[in-house]
Amino acid sequence: MRFGFEKKTFHASCNDLTYEGKGVVHDGSDVVFVDGMFPGDEGDVTLAYRRNGQLFGTVAHLSKSSPDRVEPRCKICSACGGCCFQQYAYSAQLLYKSKKVKEQFRKVGHLEVNVLPTIGMDDPYYYRNKIQMPFGLDDRGNPYCGFYKENTHVIVPVTECFIQDKRGVHILSVIKSLLKSFKIPPYIEDERWGVVRHVLIRTSYYQKQIMVVFVTNVDSFPSRNNFVHELIKECPEITTVVQNINDRSTNVILGEREHVLYGRGYIEDSLCGVSFQISSKSFYQTNPVMTEILYQKAMEAAKLQPTDVVFDAYSGIGTIGLIASKSVKDVVSVEIIPAAVRDAVNNAKRNNITNFHEYADDASSFINRMAQEGKHIDVLFMDPPRKGSDERFLDAVCRLKPSRLVYISCDPSTLARDVAYIQKSYKIESIQPVDMFPQSFHVETVVRLTLRDDK
Ligand code: SAH
Repeated sequence: MRFGFEKKTFHASCNDLTYEGKGVVHDGSDVVFVDGMFPGDEGDVTLAYRRNGQLFGTVAHLSKSSPDRVEPRCKICSACGGCCFQQYAYSAQLLYKSKKVKEQFRKVGHLEVNVLPTIGMDDPYYYRNKIQMPFGLDDRGNPYCGFYKENTHVIVPVTECFIQDKRGVHILSVIKSLLKSFKIPPYIEDERWGVVRHVLIRTSYYQKQIMVVFVTNVDSFPSRNNFVHELIKECPEITTVVQNINDRSTNVILGEREHVLYGRGYIEDSLCGVSFQISSKSFYQTNPVMTEILYQKAMEAAKLQPTDVVFDAYSGIGTIGLIASKSVKDVVSVEIIPAAVRDAVNNAKRNNITNFHEYADDASSFINRMAQEGKHIDVLFMDPPRKGSDERFLDAVCRLKPSRLVYISCDPSTLARDVAYIQKSYKIESIQPVDMFPQSFHVETVVRLTLRDDK
C-alpha cells in the first residue's frame, strides 16, 4: 500500500467522461479516472496514482472498443496529453462539450438549462496560432522541445504536432538545430543552468506574420545577433523576434523584461474585418477560424443598436469592443495587463475607431466606480479568464442594469457559478458552445442574458 492504494489491474467498462475528459470506470465501490478510455470501451485498467483522494488508472488492454474510438493522427497523443481526444471521434467530442456545459449548470449552478449543439470546425487540425514549448537537452547534448507531461515538469519531446500551425512547428525544428550549432544551451531546471527556457511562436492567420519569443534565464544570449540573423535566413517568414527574460522559478512562462531583437516586436492579424496588433504578453484567442465564429455569435447575442453604450470587460487587446464599436454609439473597455491595454489603444488608432475607450484597471474595481458614478450601459460583454468573475463585479452589474449581457467563457464551471449568482436579475436566453479547442476537453461558451422585467 506504498502508493496509498493497491497496485492492481482490473477489468472494467467505461460509460462516462469527466470534466477533464477522463474515462470513468468502477472497481467495486471505487471510482477510477482513466486517460484515453471512452464511453463504450471495455478492458483492463491498471491503477496508477492517487491524487487529492481520487484514483487514476491507465489502460492495460482494451477488449472492446467504443464505437466512437478512432485512430489518432498523432502517435504520441497519449503521452503528450495536449490532445486527450484525438482518439475520440470529432462528432462525439462535440456532443460531449454541450453535455459538459449542461452538466456544469446543473452541478455548479443548480440550474436546468438548454444548451445548443456545439459549433465545430470543418477541419479540426492545425488550428492553433500559438505554440509555447519548454526546451531540454538529451543525453547526447541535442536540444529538444515539447510539452510538459500532465502534472509534471517532464518534457515529452515533440517533433510533429497536429493541432499547431505547421509554420510554427517547422520554425521550432530550425531553432533546435541552430541552438546546437551556436552551442546555446537550453535551461536545465534542476541544475539552474543554461539559457533558453521556452520558445513561444505566434502566427498570424490573415497577415502571414510570425513572432518568435525566446524566453531566457539571463540577459546575455551568446551570439545573439548572429543567431537571429541565421534564423531569419532559414525562416524568412518570421517578421519579429523578441527576447523575454525570466529568471524566476515559477510556472509563469514570460518574465517582465523584453528586448526586441528583430522587427517591430508585435504581429498583426485580422478578425471580423478589424485589424489587430498583438504583442508577446497580450492575450489573443488561439483558434483564429473559430474566434471569428465566436465573436459573430457574441455580436448576435448582444443585438446591438446604433444608440447603445457598450462595456467590454476583460478586454485583452480590445477585440470584442472594437468589433462592436462599428455598430454602436460608444464602447468602454477594461483590461488589467498593461501590454494588452497598449495594444488595444493602438488597435483603435490603426482602425480609425474613435468611439472606443480603453482603461487599464481591475475589472471589478472599474465597474464598481461606474456603478457609483451612475453610468449608463446598454450591453455588457464579459470574457474573464478561466477562474471567472467575482461577486464584486457581478453585484455592480446588477446595480448598473445593462439590458443585455453576453458572457463569454472558457470554463463552464465558473460560468455556471457566475450566471447562477445573477439569476434573480438576469434571465438566460441562450447558451452556445463553440469548439475553440478541437481534440481537447476544453470548450468556449457564449451565454446571452437579458435583464428581467421587474428589475
Ligand atoms: N476578450 C479578450 C480577452 C479574453 S481573456 C479576447 O477575446 O481576446 C481574459 C482577459 O482578462 C485577459 O486579457 C486578462 O489579462 C484579463 N484579466 C484577467 N483578470 C482581470 C481583471 N481582474 N481585470 C481586468 N482584466 C483581467
